[in-house]
Amino acid sequence: MYYNNHTVIFLDGEMVKAGESVTDLYSQTMHYGYGVFEGIRAYKTKKGTNVFKAEEHYQRLKRSCELVNIPFDYTVTELVEATYHLLEANNLSDAYVRPLVFCNPNMSLMRPNKVSLMICAWEWGAYLGDKQLRLAISSFCRPHPRSIQIEAKVCGHYVNSILATTEAKDNGYDEALLLDSDGHLAEGPGANLFFENDGMLFTPKLGNILPGITRATVLELAEKMGIEVLQGLYTPEDLWEADSAFYCGTAAEIIGIESVDEIKFRKDWNDSLGKRLQEAYAKLVREKVTTLSTY
Ligand code: PMP
Repeated sequence: MYYNNHTVIFLDGEMVKAGESVTDLYSQTMHYGYGVFEGIRAYKTKKGTNVFKAEEHYQRLKRSCELVNIPFDYTVTELVEATYHLLEANNLSDAYVRPLVFCNPNMSLMRPNKVSLMICAWEWGAYLGDKQLRLAISSFCRPHPRSIQIEAKVCGHYVNSILATTEAKDNGYDEALLLDSDGHLAEGPGANLFFENDGMLFTPKLGNILPGITRATVLELAEKMGIEVLQGLYTPEDLWEADSAFYCGTAAEIIGIESVDEIKFRKDWNDSLGKRLQEAYAKLVREKVTTLSTY
C-alpha cells in the first residue's frame, strides 16, 4: 500500500529503493520511540505540485529535534528541495509526505551522536474520511507538558494517540477527543479542535497540544474572513453547548464533527463556520504561492 518495487525514498541525501532500504534493529528509535517525524501534504495545482507549508513543516521538524536533543544537520531549504525531487521521482503530485529522523544503534538513554533522515511519500486520501465524525472523549489524557516536550512531534508520543484512537474505534466511534491532564479540551490523536458558538470560534490554547500547522492556517483564514477566534482553556461542557465543531490537521484537513459522546451539534454542518473554512482551506492548498524557481 505504501510502496512498490519502483518506489524510491530519500535516505541520508540519496534516493534509494524503498524495498531495498533497511534499518538497524539496535536503534534508540526502535526501542524507545526516540525519533521525530513530520506529516506533510502535497497537492496538484495548475502551476505544478504544491508541497503545502513545506518550510513550516521542516522548521517544526528541526524544532522537534532541538527540543529532544536529536542532532539536525540539514537546512530547511535542502529538505524542501529533496521533497520536490522525491515526489517527481515517484511520479506523485497529490501525496502525503513523511520525513522521519531516526537514531543510530545505541541502547543508552543519552542523546544520540548520529542520526539518519528519511523522507517517503505515498498517495493518501483524507485521513479521517469525508463524513462528519462521531467522537468519544477518551479515557486517556494527553501527556502532561512537564513529562514530555509537548510541542515536539516525537515518535513515542504517538502511543498515546494509538491507544486513544483504538479505544474510540473499539467502542464504535470514529475517533477520540483527548483532554489534558486537568480535564480541559486538548486535541484529537492527530488533529486540533475548533468549535463554534454564537458566530465565534474557540480553540484550545497552546501549552497542552501540538501547535498544528493547519490550526495556524485556520487562524489565518479566519482572520481574513472576519471570523473572531478565541484561544483558551475550555471544558467538555463548553463543547457540548457549542453550535458546531471540527478537527483540523495535515492528514485530516478540515473535517466536521457530528457528535461528542452521542451529543449532537445543533447546527447543520453546511451552515457552520467550519464548512466555510473547509472550503477556503481546500482552495488555499491548491494555490501554488511560492515563486522560487527551484520548486
Ligand atoms: N495534534 C496532533 C497530536 C497531531 O499529531 C497533529 C498532526 N500532525 C495535529 C495536532 C495537527 O497538526 P498539523 O496541522 O501540523 O498536521
